[in-house]
Amino acid sequence: MAFDPAWLETMRQRLLAHRAELQRQLADARSSLSAESQYQEDEGAVATHPADEASDLFSAEVDATWVRALEDELSRVDAALKRMERGTYGICIECGQPIERERLEAIPWAERCIRDQERFEAAQAQRRR
Ligand SMILES: [Zn+2]
Repeated sequence: MAFDPAWLETMRQRLLAHRAELQRQLADARSSLSAESQYQEDEGAVATHPADEASDLFSAEVDATWVRALEDELSRVDAALKRMERGTYGICIECGQPIERERLEAIPWAERCIRDQERFEAAQAQRRR
């Protein structure tokens, strides 16, 4: 089953728009992250209020997690664009079957069909335990 070119082009435009948005968010998140670590270094010499320090650390941690999540999603979007160039877009990387069209419309960078995604997530959850 091949996807029709017009539909593929729509998905490509969505991926490109999403990539631009992710890159913008990533730049923001990275600059706030480096601003915060700068602030913590400056403060190191002075006596700090424990409460302030804790909240700074907390927000830096949130930013770092946010940056990782954005980078992760960006790499998925890039991979989807690459698969599109190779003509393998929308093919499940596990079973080689076409991914459900509704699933791709919901998540254009999906790389697994629903069944394999569920299996993959279950395996990951197991590994985390
Ligand atoms: Zn599959």
